[in-house]
Amino acid sequence: MQDLAEGVARFQRGVFPAKAELFAHLATTHRPGTLFIGCSDARVVPELLTQSEPGELFVIRTAGNLVPAYTPGADGVAASVEYAVGVLGVREIVVCGHSACGAMTALAEGHDLAALPAVADWLRHADAAPAHAGTADLAALVRGNVRAQLANLATHPSVARALAEQRLTLHGWVYDIPTGSIEELDAARALT
Ligand SMILES: [Zn+2]
Repeated sequence: MQDLAEGVARFQRGVFPAKAELFAHLATTHRPGTLFIGCSDARVVPELLTQSEPGELFVIRTAGNLVPAYTPGADGVAASVEYAVGVLGVREIVVCGHSACGAMTALAEGHDLAALPAVADWLRHADAAPAHAGTADLAALVRGNVRAQLANLATHPSVARALAEQRLTLHGWVYDIPTGSIEELDAARALT
């Protein structure tokens, strides 16, 4: 906790004054251009790896960067997607998977999740491909999962509407922790 308090103090002393104009603008403006859906993994920091300023990314982070397919009923992820697309009018959505993902590793290696019922239940929303086994397939599972989540996203009515009206673009990314590189799936080349 001491580390966090010291961080807050550094923010208030150094960072905030340097960006005072931006924060004054953001006090009454919330117009992010991108919805970034990433894993809760502490190593995957959306603003850091895209060098985005406050106000630029609307972020949802879930274990395994999973976005359940749309079903009627209350759901925090669905509500955030609906707000980002329907109210904030984001023009891009990035679903970002990453190397060494704990959620994907549990699936790839068939971990026993009996003691983690919430995790086991949540991972039902991951790529359902049953053929994966072992760490050699982890990278394939991470990519397949990002594609599966893009497909899940498209089942959300706000997303489907925006896609049909061509005011929204979906992107699948995979972030490699040890190199810092980002692969854009189904694109001609890596981002970096
Ligand atoms: Zn992860």
